[in-house]
Amino acid sequence: MKSLPVENEQRIAIVGGGPVGLALSVILARYNVPTVILESRSQPTPRHESRAIVWMPRGLELLEWLGLKTTFDKAVVHRTAHEFQAGRRKLMTLSFQDLESPYGYTAQMPQHDTEVLLEEAARQTGVVEIRRNHQVMKVGEEEGQANLTVDSPQGTYIIRAPWAVGTDGAKSTIRKALSIPLKWRDYGTDSAVADFEMEINLPREVSNIVLDPERPYGFFHFGEMKWRFIYRLNQGEDRKQMTSEAAVTELLRKLKPDVSIKRFLWASAFRLGQGQSETYRKGKWLLAGDAAHAMGPSAGAGMMIGLLGAWRLGWRLALAYQGHEAADALLDDYAKEQLAASDEIQDTNAIIFKNMALSNPALARLRSTGLRMASRISSVSKSITAKEALLNQILPVDGSADCIIDGSWKSRKGYGSWILGKRIPFPVQGHQLLLPDQLKHTLVSVGLNDEVEERRYAERLAEQVPVPVNEEICLPEQTSPYRFGKAKSIVFALVRPDQHVAGIFERSV
Ligand SMILES: Cc1cc2nc3c(=O)[nH]c(=O)nc-3n(C[C@H](O)[C@H](O)[C@H](O)COP(=O)(O)OP(=O)(O)OC[C@H]3O[C@@H](n4cnc5c(N)ncnc54)[C@H](O)[C@@H]3O)c2cc1C
Repeated sequence: MKSLPVENEQRIAIVGGGPVGLALSVILARYNVPTVILESRSQPTPRHESRAIVWMPRGLELLEWLGLKTTFDKAVVHRTAHEFQAGRRKLMTLSFQDLESPYGYTAQMPQHDTEVLLEEAARQTGVVEIRRNHQVMKVGEEEGQANLTVDSPQGTYIIRAPWAVGTDGAKSTIRKALSIPLKWRDYGTDSAVADFEMEINLPREVSNIVLDPERPYGFFHFGEMKWRFIYRLNQGEDRKQMTSEAAVTELLRKLKPDVSIKRFLWASAFRLGQGQSETYRKGKWLLAGDAAHAMGPSAGAGMMIGLLGAWRLGWRLALAYQGHEAADALLDDYAKEQLAASDEIQDTNAIIFKNMALSNPALARLRSTGLRMASRISSVSKSITAKEALLNQILPVDGSADCIIDGSWKSRKGYGSWILGKRIPFPVQGHQLLLPDQLKHTLVSVGLNDEVEERRYAERLAEQVPVPVNEEICLPEQTSPYRFGKAKSIVFALVRPDQHVAGIFERSV
């Protein structure tokens, strides 16, 4: 048998050019790490079959870090709040305007546009090659390299790469080929989305879900005249019939008689369920995005948590590519931390899915009362909104390979508003933390002392941090809300490139 041509790659191979694979390539390019993306489709997700439409505030922070925020701003519409209703009665309003983030809104655009903009950004880096119509059929590992068998219009070939990442979506070929088990949670209900161009008497900047036990439904605005209508399928209803143009239009007109429909774009039904891979790393292979943790469609967090995972993986993979001695431990940390982060989101999704499934009127009334009461406590709705915006994820960073420091420093779980594992705090008093070059870890002085002492100790601490640290330490003003505690105590927060706090170290002087 004729042997297949082999490409011995120096670049990292990424399987799947969806939002997560593309974003990962752009993140790696910031470290000058070259990648080749193998993508089976000839085009991005079709314009009218858009799946992910929402960019949460934390995702917008990633766009800012990538220098792409202004480009995306031109393509999105904003949403400032999400409401839950029972009939016409408001039960709870989640306001994004009150969030501790520079962005008091979410941004909506079709997934197609997200992919087009990310692909453009990837090509512009000059270190990303995107091969469309190249489908990865088989993978493995041999002699310390990742192996990929690829079908392309020019024929089948083999790639050997130093590292490879599977970002090939929920039905991941890579995950299956690596024999990584998947745990699937099913909520026993089908749900559907239908996208329309239409005029409807609803505020564009507020999305809503009507928690009707007979059939919950809701509306999201996501572009010029573009609206997403979501609704539950009830027991015995046929998925195909219930997503036909005729059936969806009839249902929509029944719920909103004054709607003026210009065009039906797309409708699709989904099982409410979610998958979790047992691990996101096997040797030279990593999993990210839906390939690692497939989220259910009604929660609006799938793409976001995948993109945040790519951010958390990017700096580690860049270090591994550059031959860092702790590469294995760093990549295992990614797997551990991202698994915990996506588990947390899946637990939240589970609550949403169970609520979508609820059809008992008495239980629905109880739920309405509970939501109305909870909405009166502003800290509760604020914390739910921050969770939805993905701003308060706490990663299990304890013992991570990037923050192993000797015993002369005391490790803390928190210090003022600095919390170990969480993203850097965002003080609302108008101060913003100005971090230097965010490609490396940064030491931020968060105690109260004088600059000379802080610089002296920062140098000593930086020598111990086992990953590259910015030479420039971050010294907020002594009166800044980023600083806390008693004078004469030296405290540093070690901030990662993905803006999570890897360590809080204290010593008295
Ligand atoms: C109806 C719906 C609504 C949603 N709404 C939202 C939302 O508002 N917000 C949000 O954050 N998320 C949302 N999601 C989830 C979101 O769409 C996914 O989480 C997101 O697309 C995952 O991105 P990904 O890059 O990991 O995978 P995908 O987008 O699935 O991309 C995987 C890519 O890999 C390619 N591929 C697959 N196999 C191979 C192979 N063997 N070789 C080469 N290429 C391959 C595919 O062609 C595809 O381009 C929604 C999902 C659905 C279904």
